Amino acid sequence: MGLIAENIDDVLRKIENAARKSGRDAKDIKLIAVTKTVDINRIKEAVEAGLRIFGENRVQEALPKLKELGRIVSWHFIGHLQTNKVKDVAGNFDLIHAVDSLRLSEEIDRQAKKRDIVQEILIEVKLSEEESKFGMPEKGVLPLIERASEFENIKILGLMTIPPFFNDAEKTRPYFKRLREIRNEAVKKGFNLSELSMGMSHDFEIAIEEGATMVRIGTAIFGERK
Ligand SMILES: *Cc1c(COP(=O)(O)O)cnc(C)c1O
Repeated sequence: MGLIAENIDDVLRKIENAARKSGRDAKDIKLIAVTKTVDINRIKEAVEAGLRIFGENRVQEALPKLKELGRIVSWHFIGHLQTNKVKDVAGNFDLIHAVDSLRLSEEIDRQAKKRDIVQEILIEVKLSEEESKFGMPEKGVLPLIERASEFENIKILGLMTIPPFFNDAEKTRPYFKRLREIRNEAVKKGFNLSELSMGMSHDFEIAIEEGATMVRIGTAIFGERK
């Protein structure tokens, strides 16, 4: 077995364990393999090992990979998205993780309408002032959901966050818990948001314990990025 396949095995086992520990079913947790800086041959190894969802955060890097692998896998756009790049992303990616403004959601709706599709998105929430550059601050999240839900060509599936980095991953727990609470508040208000995209290589087990339905993992599968 190659190193990538071994790493995937290891990550899947950890997902299973974290799910079991918190009384969840591992089937409810999607593994998104993050392939930024990863070349196509190594991505193909991950496909051979059974992975079917891949995440990219730069449009120009992603498009040739999408072309090469085609629709045998699903692609998610996980990075910060500039309004002028939406035309290259809408329709090419099954899910856009990091929508953090009304303006951006408007543009996604507009581009999706042109293509006659409904683009699925997540709202990125900024839970810490110091660390994260992007994301909608907590108090703006519900108003954004309310407005963006009215657009016909986007569908909001849930929320996403990137907590600050801590050497002690346990310190990320309050951020993941808070994202789940915000999602639950939105559900109480009648919005059908089921997805929580949270957890990366060093903290995904904690994110799963706190309710993650999607974990975005790069380094733990493909090794350190150069
Ligand atoms: C790079 C990246 C990841 C994966 O990070 P790792 O620590 O390598 O697992 C997850 N989410 C986003 C938004 C990223 O840019």
